[in-house]
Amino acid sequence: MQMVLKGDYFNSQFSHPNGLNHLSAAQETIIKTCPGETNLELWRAGVFYEHVEKVIESASKGFDTWRKLSFEQRVQYLKKYQEIVRARKDEIAMALALEVGKPLWEAKTEAAALDSKVSVTITDSLERIRQETIKEVMPKIDGHVIYKPLGPCFVIGPFNFPCHLANGQIISALLAGNSIIFKPSEKTIYSAQLMIECFHQAGFPDGVINFINGTGYTAGKITGDSRIRGVFFTGSKGVGLKILENTYKDLGKLVALELGGKNSTIIHHDTHIPHALPELLRACFLTTGQRCTSTSMILVHKKIEQEFISQFKALTERIKVGHPTKSQDPFMGPLIDEQAEKLYFDFCQFGKDEGAEELISPKKLDVGFNGHYVSPSIHYAKKPNLKGKFIQEEIFGPSCFFVPYEDIEEAIAIANSTEYGLAASVFTRDSEIYKLCLRDIDSGLINLNRSTVGATAKLPFGGVKSSGNHHPAAVSMIDHCVSTVAALETIDDTSSKVSDIVGLKE
Ligand code: NAD
Repeated sequence: MQMVLKGDYFNSQFSHPNGLNHLSAAQETIIKTCPGETNLELWRAGVFYEHVEKVIESASKGFDTWRKLSFEQRVQYLKKYQEIVRARKDEIAMALALEVGKPLWEAKTEAAALDSKVSVTITDSLERIRQETIKEVMPKIDGHVIYKPLGPCFVIGPFNFPCHLANGQIISALLAGNSIIFKPSEKTIYSAQLMIECFHQAGFPDGVINFINGTGYTAGKITGDSRIRGVFFTGSKGVGLKILENTYKDLGKLVALELGGKNSTIIHHDTHIPHALPELLRACFLTTGQRCTSTSMILVHKKIEQEFISQFKALTERIKVGHPTKSQDPFMGPLIDEQAEKLYFDFCQFGKDEGAEELISPKKLDVGFNGHYVSPSIHYAKKPNLKGKFIQEEIFGPSCFFVPYEDIEEAIAIANSTEYGLAASVFTRDSEIYKLCLRDIDSGLINLNRSTVGATAKLPFGGVKSSGNHHPAAVSMIDHCVSTVAALETIDDTSSKVSDIVGLKE
């Protein structure tokens, strides 16, 4: 696959539509190699600071047109996009596999989600922002709630789901009447560009869709601009905080943050083990552990710890790691880059330094390609150091650790000991145990007998504590794409009389 970058996109045009060499004029050049084959250069992208103004101007114009369309008209454009994204799903999947390093079978699920997300947003989210009327909210007065678009919105994406996450935010923002600027991760520009090409093919009015490449500098310029009325960010806690620092003085700017996780799974003593094992394997190691919802801590009841851990360890040892497109059905591909690889090994070392025992050590793997291939690892701690880096921080690699517990309260306390609160799950047949977990675990998602990964678009998706700022995505994303207006309508315009006023002089 040849990845030709077309530059930034504003006023319905790519800045370098033929992908001709334009790098000499760029202020920064980003070089991308395939994480599964580092001697394969995928592309070089130019970053143009002067395009910041152009995308914002374009999005401002686009907003003026788009906000005046009806929901039904916007739905028609989105359906057209849906058809195109469906037709191009294999191309998108291949790009995702090569850029992110996720196995092709997994990349296909992300590409397919782009299409289905359009339908769910139209069927399940749109109703949340349709005008509501309350008849006779006061005597002879009707009340209305009207949801207005915010304005030009800025969507900033992470590398691990370059298309799916931004797509969800973009579709909701558009349906609500906003124009958008999308800046993907600098590690996954080509997959994101393919998605923008689909919007372009769908023929959206000028300026409704805009796209810019760059790093934190470019993103910072746009988030801080007063014309941007919504910022929808998915990424790390550290960058989320920078965005808040950059925007907090602009009180009317909506900032929705979807951040990291340090997720726990509780395996109670009555767990049906053959069901829990595959669920947990996926939770810990899918996407090479690079999911915000990956399970990191496994709290296992003492009664079954030996049996459970030995079976989980045996399964983990069977995980096939391979090239995302050239190996036969690997479970895991490589990590995204050299820095991620270094962090993975560093974190496992912190685990050891902080007293955890290595049940499976992390290793650099030779799978026949020069890439960031590592083995999954498992740690165990009878008495974990709850203040240590290994427990507190997000690893974003194929690492998990077991901690045994006796009482469910103890397990819940450990699950709550991290600063994050994104996803948790509990495996049990005891509904009272589940109810306790639902009540007491501080987490935005709490699943029963199901892993922490693999959320649905039909429910809200977002975390508490350092995992977000209470603007969950998925079905409820659309709620943050609008401002709410309350209108009281007095139909009878003869009902007020000066004589009714108390305290007027004769
Ligand atoms: P990251 O925070 O390093 O980068 C995310 C995006 O922020 C990139 O596009 C980057 O260019 C941009 N950015 C960098 N500096 C910026 C600044 N100063 N202002 C604005 N934007 C800036 O994250 P990543 O490594 O790409 O992705 C992994 C992280 O994302 C993990 O922490 C993971 O948990 C999180 N994540 C969260 C969710 C969720 O829904 N909660 C989903 C996926 C990933």
